[in-house]
Amino acid sequence: MDIVVLTIFPEMFVPFWEHGIIKRAIEGKSISASALNVRDFAEGRHHVTDDRPFGGGCGMIMKPEPIAAAIRSVKKKLPSSKTILLTPQGKVFDQDTARMLATSEGLIFICGRYEGVDERICSGFADDEISIGDYVLTGGELAAMVIIDAVTRLIPGVLGGADSAEKDSFSEGLLEHAHYTRPRTFEGTDVPEVLLSGNHREIEKWRLRTSLIRTFLKRPDLLEKKLLTREETEILEKWCLDIEKIIQFQSVHSPGSLSGGQ
Ligand code: SAM
Repeated sequence: MDIVVLTIFPEMFVPFWEHGIIKRAIEGKSISASALNVRDFAEGRHHVTDDRPFGGGCGMIMKPEPIAAAIRSVKKKLPSSKTILLTPQGKVFDQDTARMLATSEGLIFICGRYEGVDERICSGFADDEISIGDYVLTGGELAAMVIIDAVTRLIPGVLGGADSAEKDSFSEGLLEHAHYTRPRTFEGTDVPEVLLSGNHREIEKWRLRTSLIRTFLKRPDLLEKKLLTREETEILEKWCLDIEKIIQFQSVHSPGSLSGGQ
């Protein structure tokens, strides 16, 4: 996949390209990545990229001509690439969108600054408008990095373990199970016994159970959307029965209950 970022701060991307999985993906040729300076596409002696808003008001707006020229120049080399405008007004980025973008041949990211980008770029040049969340950043660069990071690790061959992305949170509509490593006991807390048992069937069952329970506790909205397998339904039913037993015990024995402690 070819990734091109259009920004007035291309230097921000230098350390990003040079670390971790992104660096490995570039070296392994799973992706090519570059950040182009929009200023280089601006005409005139001063290469101006922003101007005052028509109609008045505070702040500056990124001019359309340099961004359009930059997109056209990239599209000449990468005609089938998709152009994404980073904006807090876009569709909120999630793992499904990351998965969809990971199948693209090329991605062009437009990073806004100031009060944003002239509307004619949004309507005439962007295939998609993406936000990374309901808050406002000073520029699109960090948003582009977030998306590039999430997308790159989903490109086949980029991650070391063949299935490490498949089991991540959100991939199956659930949060991932808990992880433990050495030491066996840390500040008085032991690693769950089952993980030391070597019984892979039991370990998988434990992982599915903790995955379901932590999804219920931390992100019940994910469970509401997910079609559960029979095994998953049985785990939740068993958990419900266990909770009911606790409640029944309390209603009989607790001093505050109607039937108990009178
Ligand atoms: N005035 C704009 C508005 O209210 O919609 C916000 C402009 S923001 C200060 C400057 C730039 O940062 C935007 O053009 C966009 O590229 C980027 N940006 C800010 N928040 C973002 C978010 N949540 N997701 C993606 N990009 C964002």
